[in-house]
Amino acid sequence: MHAVRNLRLCTKDCVCLFVCPTGATDTETGQIDFEKCLDGCRRCVDACPSHAISLVMDNYPARPAKDKAVADALLNFMEQKHREEALAKALAASASTPARAKVAKALAASLRILAEDGAREAGYMIPQSTESKAFLEKLLAQRPSVAGKQFPEAELKELLSLL
Ligand code: SF4
Ligand code: SF4
Repeated sequence: MHAVRNLRLCTKDCVCLFVCPTGATDTETGQIDFEKCLDGCRRCVDACPSHAISLVMDNYPARPAKDKAVADALLNFMEQKHREEALAKALAASASTPARAKVAKALAASLRILAEDGAREAGYMIPQSTESKAFLEKLLAQRPSVAGKQFPEAELKELLSLL
């Protein structure tokens, strides 16, 4: 464990500087010195009157893989919400009054959030997740065509090389 300081909460009263046995809290940048915070002893955490310091784990356990049936159901949910969002947008575009257009736009925004929730839960909103990588590789293999647009092969390859 290591201590980290939330600079937005820190009121700079320096209590943590007096309790830290290694001087890890006394830095020019305001960040706690990772190398000096040897044992995560939490003296600074307990002393800080602003609750600006917390301990974080050095290593986090691997994210457990989602059951395929659950991931598939979430993907279906995402696609359904995406289709409904397109319908709501079309409704907004053809609405007979500004008030109706406003309601349809709000509905579209709400459906987008639901679709994103589905994508996140299915593991597609984390760039480095295996699901995202597999999805991008599938896109590269299939090169789906989008009307009037060139497939962004170079960009996709660069993105994959960064993940
Ligand atoms: S004790 Fe808390 S509020 Fe005070 S300087 Fe340290 S981190 Fe900031
Ligand atoms: S956890 Fe302990 S060693 Fe680490 S910064 Fe806080 S007081 Fe210092």
